[in-house]
Amino acid sequence: MTQKRIAILGAGPSGLAQLRAFEAAEAAGVKNLPEIVCYEKQNDIGGMWNYTWRTGLDRNGEPVHGSMYRYLWSNGPKECLEFADYSFDEHFDRPIPSYPPREVLKDYIMGRIDKRAIFKYIRFENPARWITYDDDSKKFTVTVMNHKKDVQETEEFDYVVVATGHFSTPNMPYFEGLEQFPGRVLHAHDFRDALEFEGSDLLLIGGSYSAEDIGTQCYKYGSKSVTISYRSTPLGFDWPEGIEERPLPTHFEGNVAHFADGTTKKFDAIIMCTGYLFHFPFLPDELRLQTHNCLYPDNLYKGIFFQNNPNLIYLGMQDQYFTFNMFDAQAWYVRDVILGKIQLPDAEQRQQDIQHWLTRQDTLTSPNESIDFQAQYIRDLISVTDYPDFPIEKQAELFKSWLIDKEENIMGFRDKSYRSTITGTMAAQMPKPWLNIKDDSLEGFMAMKF
Ligand code: FAD
Ligand code: NAP
Ligand code: MG
Repeated sequence: MTQKRIAILGAGPSGLAQLRAFEAAEAAGVKNLPEIVCYEKQNDIGGMWNYTWRTGLDRNGEPVHGSMYRYLWSNGPKECLEFADYSFDEHFDRPIPSYPPREVLKDYIMGRIDKRAIFKYIRFENPARWITYDDDSKKFTVTVMNHKKDVQETEEFDYVVVATGHFSTPNMPYFEGLEQFPGRVLHAHDFRDALEFEGSDLLLIGGSYSAEDIGTQCYKYGSKSVTISYRSTPLGFDWPEGIEERPLPTHFEGNVAHFADGTTKKFDAIIMCTGYLFHFPFLPDELRLQTHNCLYPDNLYKGIFFQNNPNLIYLGMQDQYFTFNMFDAQAWYVRDVILGKIQLPDAEQRQQDIQHWLTRQDTLTSPNESIDFQAQYIRDLISVTDYPDFPIEKQAELFKSWLIDKEENIMGFRDKSYRSTITGTMAAQMPKPWLNIKDDSLEGFMAMKF
């Protein structure tokens, strides 16, 4: 039997989870592992967690992947994203607070990676360009742009794992009059430094995490006022003076926004916090996942295997309460299917399973139910693999407490501490309120006395 070949696209948390899953199998003595090539557009691992000062195009002329910004702190408790096979205690050797800044979380996520073991699989600055599938040979042809050599290269694979993320390509709506707006109009994807908006009257459009987080952050770093403009429902938090919510603008006249409730206000800048498009410019229609940000995208068996061609695998395409441990659960499942330990059922049975989850998704009416849904999804995956069992349901309860903390104090929820469901360790107390900590560096954070 010839060795199977797998292409993994992307070396962010999802792609790395896939590499780690095979590494774990190898460590457990599994022989005849498939040959893996991981193509990564950026010049390092980490995906979204690599902060870049660049916006627009990268140095190779590729769209910049990163949507993260300076001073970004975890928006959920770290106890909800702890790896089952690598705890915070193991990484930091002492308790740290529940809400670390980006660099600290990145240090943790990357900490379990044995760079020597996995870098040999990764080809950096190699964005996937085009993929086809041949029904006769049952192989994918993957063409990438090798920017290091400045040549396009093509190889054949039995499986393709798409782990390219879905929070990178801006969804950018239009409002009448924007072309005459005298200030900056940008998408959250291109937001980098809140200090740019110090002293500004800022309009954010969108009613989800980006609007909430960029809004509170710009308040923290000295914006004069922040107006959050929602399409369907306001975020509804008890905002401090200086942050308010209004319905969508109907149009702009110069620097004045006219809102649907008849009010008007002048602004210096507008940030569209309007979410992201699922964008796979390297896939033909018959292989391309077409969906929006939701907990269970259609056409993916177990949320992973493309229904029309289950050798095409998608990781991390869900809307995310759970993140890193969900990607792990998916990656371990994928590994066991590829190794033949788990048999995929036929197309009809797969369709029934997809339908079962879609029907349940349709009944979800509250964030708490959505959290339970995603926890049950992860439970379904890990029940059949050797990914270490972990208290998913307890983590779901932590997410529910987190929602209550935010309701109680949107500017102070990051000061709370949670207990690890993996090690039982209680998180350290933040030494001072998040609102007063302006330094988000790893060194600055770890030097604090907690
Ligand atoms: P990504 O991290 O997006 O990685 C995808 C990788 O694929 C990238 O390295 C990219 O360069 C590469 N790639 C893209 N296109 C190609 C191509 N054509 N060829 C080759 N490689 C390609 N999650 C949390 O748990 N906690 C948080 O606090 C949190 N904060 C967030 C803040 C922001 C602003 C955003 C946008 C997301 C945040 N997330 C957070 C969610 C985040 O998406 C996940 O944590 C995680 O990064 C998803 O991992 P991924 O590997 O699926 O995708
Ligand atoms: P999102 O959750 O998909 O939300 C998109 C928002 O845009 C929704 O409120 C939607 O409104 C609105 N919208 C879409 N089209 C619109 C239009 N044409 N006009 C007006 N509004 C429109 O995207 P997101 O908020 O960017 O969050 C993406 C991910 O980033 C999440 O996983 C989040 O956790 C993560 N994130 C994390 C942090 C952090 O950790 N600190 C910070 C920011 C983001 P409707 O509600 O009407 O659909
Ligand atoms: Mg198990």
